[in-house]
Amino acid sequence: MEFYELYPNIKKYALEHKTPIIMEDSLEYIKTLIKKEKVQKILEIGTAISYSALHFVSVGEDVLVDTIERNEVMIEEATKNIQEYDNKKQITLHKGDALEYPIEALGKDYDLLFIDAAKAQSQKFFLRYVPLLKENGIIITDNMNFHGVSIDDPNISRNLRNMLKKIQNYNEWLINHPDYETHFVDLGDGLAITRRKKCS
Ligand code: SAH
Ligand code: MG
Repeated sequence: MEFYELYPNIKKYALEHKTPIIMEDSLEYIKTLIKKEKVQKILEIGTAISYSALHFVSVGEDVLVDTIERNEVMIEEATKNIQEYDNKKQITLHKGDALEYPIEALGKDYDLLFIDAAKAQSQKFFLRYVPLLKENGIIITDNMNFHGVSIDDPNISRNLRNMLKKIQNYNEWLINHPDYETHFVDLGDGLAITRRKKCS
């Protein structure tokens, strides 16, 4: 897949400040999905510096993103980037902790939920925000491979092992969920693509 970097300055900032941003392959995959499935309303958990959100809205003028971020430094940088690049005002930045953010301040008919915040909390975000999706909405979770770090590596810290354990639990929970169908895409840092099962 061909990838064209629309925001080289934001990417440069991310590299210099070690800000975690989505990897090119996964981004290209999601942008293709947005186009193909005619996704219009996106809820993103974890804005960082608004790199992914700006790429999502670049797919088309009818794509709208609500995105939640709690970190002050990120919010400041995201605000700058949105001011500079989001000319059609397609992005709304919601400031606060996504585990507590008032649901009423958001929409209730999203086509896509993109979970990309604290990795140990993905299941909590899923449960909290899935009710805001349309019936045939899609949930995408990033960093399912967590940089390829293995849980069996004896040299990793206890904190890291706990987090990997949580990602693994989330993974298994998704796979075994009776109402959802999940497949994993081994691009970038690993994406989980989840859809509600169709009732027959
Ligand atoms: N989606 C961005 C990257 C997000 S990095 C991109 O690809 O460009 C993850 C972000 O989630 C960090 O900025 C972190 O501050 C934020 N975050 C983590 N836990 C959060 C929470 N509970 N509520 C809101 N933001 C959170
Ligand atoms: Mg990510």
